[in-house]
Amino acid sequence: MKYFGAHVSASGGVENAPANAAAIGATAFALFTKNQRQWNAPPLTTEQCERFREACEKYGYTPAQILPHDSYLINLGHPEREGLDKSRESFFGEMARCEQLGLDRLNFHPGSHLNKITAYMSLDRIAESINMALDRTSGVTAVIENTAGQGSNLGFAWEQIAHIIDRVEDKSRVGFCIDTCHSFAAGYDLRTEEACRKTFEEVERIIGLKYLRGIHLNDALKPLGSHVDRHAPLGDGEIGWECFRFIARSPLFDGVPIVLETPDEARWAEEIARLKAFAAEQ
Ligand SMILES: [Zn+2]
Ligand SMILES: [Zn+2]
Repeated sequence: MKYFGAHVSASGGVENAPANAAAIGATAFALFTKNQRQWNAPPLTTEQCERFREACEKYGYTPAQILPHDSYLINLGHPEREGLDKSRESFFGEMARCEQLGLDRLNFHPGSHLNKITAYMSLDRIAESINMALDRTSGVTAVIENTAGQGSNLGFAWEQIAHIIDRVEDKSRVGFCIDTCHSFAAGYDLRTEEACRKTFEEVERIIGLKYLRGIHLNDALKPLGSHVDRHAPLGDGEIGWECFRFIARSPLFDGVPIVLETPDEARWAEEIARLKAFAAEQ
């Protein structure tokens, strides 16, 4: 079973997200459970959590179809004590919010060394941060998203994601998410079916697809290996439809939320319909 959707708005409260997803024909969705550009947020109320669960039930979304994303401010591999502590506190809070909402995973960008420590020191810190978060929460999997490797951002190479997962104690609550734009920007080709097969074989060999907990489906505005993170609508970028058709049809991606983060919201319903049509071909 394939779940297709988009990162929908939760404006006015998380409880509004499921209806926004249903309106575009989505069978999956992503959301921020708080303002992604601020450190602080009012706690979720019991009533809000109940309304969120009711809405998910009404529109038919189970936790396996929902991929919450954390705040962009968090850096779990921060080189400095103050920044690291602040990031960790905020991340623990985001994991707790997911738990409160009955969600089973939280997607995040691993972190950045900011050119102040080595990449491997920072990766070790990220793993330690995940271990701490898993100790403090239950039932929520930490889902590491691969990155474009812009600036000092880590997680652009499959080996870096494997390095983090290796150091996480509870392997049942760690996973990863592949963003197609980030992969392509990081230098992994996805333009043809053959390139996709080769890239995902590498993912399987280095990380293991058993850890896959989500997909971000985005075309890429910049060329292969550019390390620039600029999303494009499906088919309008450098990757092209062959990749998205491959993902929609391949059983490797069954049962995980496959979520659009493409820039033109007005096209989401159409993009989802096309993905569903590809999946129905088989
Ligand atoms: Zn992301
Ligand atoms: Zn993404």
